[in-house]
Amino acid sequence: MYHTIRPASILASLVLLAVSAVSAQAQLEYKNGIIWDRPERVENAQPVCTPAPEGAVVLFDGTDIKKHFNNVQNWVVKDGYAEVHGGTAETKQSFGSCHIHLEWASPAKVSGRGQGRGNSGVYIMGKYEVQILDSYQNDTYFDGQCGAIYKQAPPLKNACRKPGEWQSYDIKFTAPKFDEKGNVTRKARLTVIHNGVVIQDDFELLGGTFWYKPAVYEAHAPKLPLKLQDHGNPVRFRNIWIKEIED
Ligand code: MG
Repeated sequence: MYHTIRPASILASLVLLAVSAVSAQAQLEYKNGIIWDRPERVENAQPVCTPAPEGAVVLFDGTDIKKHFNNVQNWVVKDGYAEVHGGTAETKQSFGSCHIHLEWASPAKVSGRGQGRGNSGVYIMGKYEVQILDSYQNDTYFDGQCGAIYKQAPPLKNACRKPGEWQSYDIKFTAPKFDEKGNVTRKARLTVIHNGVVIQDDFELLGGTFWYKPAVYEAHAPKLPLKLQDHGNPVRFRNIWIKEIED
């Protein structure tokens, strides 16, 4: 007694194998292999707590995080701040080129290490992450530390304050443009000021910021929602505003 091997079942098995290989690969971390210098440390950089200028959309004024964000039903709002809990916040409104201001604090009670300590992130257009991380005496890969354009560029300086202390980001973002075939015709650019220190200086992005694959541009709408990442750590936010920049 022996089994008859049917070509169709062999083909089906091969397809299954290929599919599982691809999905297994999708779970692997992408490493670009670049050896960066350690960003120089700036001690005691002070947060710049700027009120919203005229024409800005105040995304969070300390009272109601649900007014301008979706997926924040589990976030905790208290004493003028909103704390990440169980969901990545996403603005109801979409934005393109813009100036973003926000203030944030990593948890005062330190737990975890590396990428597991005070991790969140400002996902501009939901695709381009400026990393938020507790990088105060907490090493990780340099292009994943606080203020990095995730997996593309370490911050020029490490201006991180101590856990629990308020910090500021001012981000100037120029949105990418695409032609009708989906090719990028203008790459995105980012300047980031962290606690008054320029840590990204008009950096031209290589594409979207991914954990599992190299940066690449994937055509998208001219305006998309801003996201604040839930990475499982109770990072706090306050005074979030955004002002669109004319292209
Ligand atoms: Mg992050």
